[in-house]
Amino acid sequence: MRIYSEELSIKTEKRFQVVSITSRVEEVVRRSGISEGFCLIFVPHATAALIINEYEPRIVSDYIKWITDVFRPGGGWEHDKIDDNAHAHIASSMIGCSRFLPVTRGSLVRGTWQEVMLVELDGPRVRKVLIQVVGE
Ligand code: ZN
Repeated sequence: MRIYSEELSIKTEKRFQVVSITSRVEEVVRRSGISEGFCLIFVPHATAALIINEYEPRIVSDYIKWITDVFRPGGGWEHDKIDDNAHAHIASSMIGCSRFLPVTRGSLVRGTWQEVMLVELDGPRVRKVLIQVVGE
């Protein structure tokens, strides 16, 4: 079994933003040379998240609408008294900061409408994304 790691750097431009990183993850899987195994994608940040689903402008607006409706920026959170981003911490902890995808025949396995997306919850910032491909 081998483990191949790479770190991406993604610069976000808005407070809330969804960035597709699918092609960059697929490039890492190709460079890994691993044909059967899995791919871990992890964001080492407390105010960003990862999702896998369709990347299309209207549904992307809907993701952000859902996030702001549910996690209510400025919603009277205690943490906002010291750092105005409680919504981002709660959203990151509930949505999650890592995802696993299978790798077969040297490629990431995903459905036609499944893209890997970084969700910026407190931007703009520079975000790291760690990708580990594990297998043979
Ligand atoms: Zn904070």
